[in-house]
Amino acid sequence: MTGEIEDTPGTRVSADQADARRRGLMLVLSSPSGAGKSTIARLLLEKEQNLSLSISVTTRPRRSSEVDGVHYHFIDPARFDQMKTHGELLEWAEVHGNCYATPRVPVETALEKGQDVLFDIDIQGTFQLYEAMRPDVVSIFILPPSIAEMKSRLRRRAEDTEEVILRRLETAVGEMKHWSKYDYIVVNDDLERAYDAVRAILRAERLKQHRSPAIGPLIDGMVGDLKTVLASGE
Ligand code: ADP
Ligand code: 5GP
Repeated sequence: MTGEIEDTPGTRVSADQADARRRGLMLVLSSPSGAGKSTIARLLLEKEQNLSLSISVTTRPRRSSEVDGVHYHFIDPARFDQMKTHGELLEWAEVHGNCYATPRVPVETALEKGQDVLFDIDIQGTFQLYEAMRPDVVSIFILPPSIAEMKSRLRRRAEDTEEVILRRLETAVGEMKHWSKYDYIVVNDDLERAYDAVRAILRAERLKQHRSPAIGPLIDGMVGDLKTVLASGE
């Protein structure tokens, strides 16, 4: 399994050491446009410690509101191909004629240090991460309470023309068909409730036993101590 840490039999591990050796997780949020994915992602990044955003590379031109190295690393198609050929990408996809990808090294470094990484990637990318690193991935599909509400949120957001809103709704049909491949489904009716649900998932997933390879030796040590206590009869 990815990132497993070998423990020498008999090595004592304290609870703090076991915690410090936790492997980070990859939190993937997906949603049909307008359901509230970006809002929830922003809240998580503001409020959660030990969580950072994976910054993708893209060949799409930078928008005036975007900063290179913050929103994306903007690169040319030749560099993108080079990264692909050299195995520098964890996953990649073509979206609306532009290429997007997740650079491998920053993610692997974070996970090894026990830091969690948040992803804003499309469905094709999510499935590639499943293939490459399934035990590390925790995926959440955010749903709107209804299509009528999703449409009115897109209108209220006032970022898109009616034509673009229609295109986003069409894309949503394809995306929503894949709901069953996600680990969790959260309905974003009330924002605070939806955010709390996502945070609860993150906290519980951090405690999954397979992310803490030193838990076995910690418990073995405790069992040894128990036997000693019982044998001494004190
Ligand atoms: P997405 O990233 O999924 O396309 P956004 O996070 O941009 O969606 O949210 C779309 C719009 O809906 C934004 O204007 C946002 O402020 C608003 N919004 C998000 N969650 C809620 C909610 N629970 N109730 C009402 N409006 C919301
Ligand atoms: P935008 O151009 O609007 O920033 O992003 C367009 C789409 O590309 C969004 O659905 C976004 O989630 C997706 N995307 C952004 N970065 C990546 C990436 O690294 N990999 C994949 N597969 N999709 C990405």
